Amino acid sequence: MSKATNRPPVADLAKEHLIQPWEPLDNLGAETRLVIDHAEGIYLVDTEGRKLIDGPGGMWCVQLGYGRREIADAMAEQAMTLAYNTPWYTTSGPAAELAARIADLTPGDLNRVFFTTGGSTAVDSALRFAQFFNNRLGRPEKKLILSRASAYHGSTYLSGSCSGSSRKQSDFDFFDDVRITLSDPTTSKRPKNLSEAQYCDLLIDEMEQQIRELGPERIAVFIAEPVLASGGLIIPPKGYHQRCLEVCRRHDILYISDEVVTAFGRMGHWFASESVFGIVPDIITFAKGVTSGYAPLGGFAISEALLKRVGGPGQEGSVYSNGFTYSGHPVCCAAALTNIDIMERESVLAHVRDVAPGFFKALDRLKELPLVSDVRIAGLMACVECDYPDRDLKDGDCKDRPSLGAIVDKHSQALGLFLRPLGDACVMSPPLIASREELARIAEILEAAIHATSRELGL
Ligand code: PLP
Repeated sequence: MSKATNRPPVADLAKEHLIQPWEPLDNLGAETRLVIDHAEGIYLVDTEGRKLIDGPGGMWCVQLGYGRREIADAMAEQAMTLAYNTPWYTTSGPAAELAARIADLTPGDLNRVFFTTGGSTAVDSALRFAQFFNNRLGRPEKKLILSRASAYHGSTYLSGSCSGSSRKQSDFDFFDDVRITLSDPTTSKRPKNLSEAQYCDLLIDEMEQQIRELGPERIAVFIAEPVLASGGLIIPPKGYHQRCLEVCRRHDILYISDEVVTAFGRMGHWFASESVFGIVPDIITFAKGVTSGYAPLGGFAISEALLKRVGGPGQEGSVYSNGFTYSGHPVCCAAALTNIDIMERESVLAHVRDVAPGFFKALDRLKELPLVSDVRIAGLMACVECDYPDRDLKDGDCKDRPSLGAIVDKHSQALGLFLRPLGDACVMSPPLIASREELARIAEILEAAIHATSRELGL
């Protein structure tokens, strides 16, 4: 009899055989994750037949929603035409075409694209470029990486080392000798006596001071998400990125804008760096939304000017010896090309810019609830932060209280909305195609779930 017959239910198989990302190993196999059976539009349907709005849009990635036959067909056709080609010795139409397409969408002269398998490998490859760059320029001591406290840049050794948010309570090793931590630009929680502009001054002063103390000759790169996503949707003060870029330029420090989350429409633009924050960085990393999550793909776009400093005549022996078996995978690139076609045809970016203010208004009202301490939104990313009403005690007597995000998520799932709980916060990044009515429904369910949480906890 085949091993596959009479299998136990999916949830049990997962518990017995899967190692899930961020799996708690102290109680191995005990955690039951929602088993998704299928999905359509902005809705997930689990194996019990429950229909849930996909609040996090996959993991900030399902821009066009589920069930897009056109993307599936493009992938199937590409798989039959050319399922794979080695990027070491060959190239393919979809990879070359996608690189050209992305080069058209990126700001400034970022017209060269390197493909990877996802966001972590995009960040890793970009950071490795910075190391390579300085080695080629004969300054091997210029290697330090400036990053921010709650940044999330991925799960490889190097990208994880630059990710403050995932380092907390971690038993992994990190490259502690290369990463320098700067403060988060948490505008909404700045000291009460500071204006936004003064707060920005403070952050820039800190950056300058770190550079002075360490020596600009030792710092290779500054890496920053335009809006810190997994760190809890941290939105910087006005002018912050422009001023960081000025500082970097002055000290010949490369600026990597990590747009793994913010690119491909999440903030209503192809890329947020220039369109929202007014900067043309040296490198932009992307992943997630480039295929709307239909296939794994990432990469970075880089300026021609920068490449020329370590390439071209007089640079014999300069080889960027980094690559992946699946760099520029033709099926993934076909998915991305169709994804971009649909986004253009359906004016998805304009739709995001159109509906985001109403979504913000609906969520901002939740600040009136005693459990809600802050609401932040950037494009179609939102964070509703909850806190115990006696929050000032939290660092003392109340430390061991359960995280509110998980309780709100439990209630909101019962009402038809799947959330991403992050500690006490509820984070959302719904598919970009969500209608005004669907976004209003998200806010409505969230409000009811927060009320239910208050009742459950007697708050
Ligand atoms: N960079 C940012 C800003 C991210 O949010 C993430 C993932 O959430 C990554 C990089 C890593 O991407 P991936 O999980 O595709 O490796």
